[in-house]
Amino acid sequence: MIDLQGKVALVTGGSRGIGRAVAERLAAQGAEVIITYVRHRTNASAVVAGIEGQGGRCLALRANLADEESLAAMCAEVQERYPQVDIIVSNAASGVLKPVTDLKSRHWDWAMHVNARALMLLTQRLVPIIPKGGRIIAISSIGAIRAIPNYTVVGASKGALESLVRHLAVELGSRGIRVNTVSAGVVETDALQKFPNRDDIIASALARTPLGRLTTPQDVADLVLFLCSDLAAMVHGQTLMVDGGYAAYG
Ligand code: NDP
Repeated sequence: MIDLQGKVALVTGGSRGIGRAVAERLAAQGAEVIITYVRHRTNASAVVAGIEGQGGRCLALRANLADEESLAAMCAEVQERYPQVDIIVSNAASGVLKPVTDLKSRHWDWAMHVNARALMLLTQRLVPIIPKGGRIIAISSIGAIRAIPNYTVVGASKGALESLVRHLAVELGSRGIRVNTVSAGVVETDALQKFPNRDDIIASALARTPLGRLTTPQDVADLVLFLCSDLAAMVHGQTLMVDGGYAAYG
């Protein structure tokens, strides 16, 4: 049994999909959880109610992670309310899906800011209250290392995110803070609805996944939990895949 009693975990984008599963998983193991959302307060409130209904503690904070001021205000509130944050899960992501020829600079900037820069800014602001033994976990996708049609700006931002994780691991290791990436296979969340070729993506993922099913939010949450545990004491600066073997397929 992994015991997270007494730990505080911040899960960005913890109001829906994978982030929600992570928040609920960490709360179920005893962590006090802070989730962030940007547009859909109802989803965030439902997660808080669900966790509190199970006897846990959860706070929802609004922040647009593309906006440095909004991110800073959220971090300031976290610092006011909590003496320390033990776990940061950088999960929130956003980005327009278009062919390269239709992309504008603002699409690039948005994806980079939400998906990659946010982790750097979160780390800078919160590292003073992350204790020895703290964990930082970024959520990425295979788009960081493989081309996926229409996924250009998100894929590029995930590549930047995975590189950032390695740099953070080297810089923060001496403080006893472990930093890793979890890269998930195709997961049926709201995000997938935005893909014009959603059905093809699911069919192709199923055909190429040796374990024969899609990855679930709970699969991702289980790997995050493992990385938060002492079982992963020497796992550092890595990208761990949870995809049923999808990425291993030639
Ligand atoms: P969802 O689209 O279901 O949820 C996204 C979450 O991020 C929501 O909580 C949303 O808040 C929040 N969010 C979006 N934009 C911003 C922003 N500008 N500022 C702050 N918060 C924001 O995503 P998934 O659960 O599918 O994905 C979660 C993570 O997993 C992402 O990093 C994604 O890239 C990764 N991933 C997903 C895969 C998939 O197949 N679904 C596969 C591999 C990786 P709100 O509801 O308020 O908008």
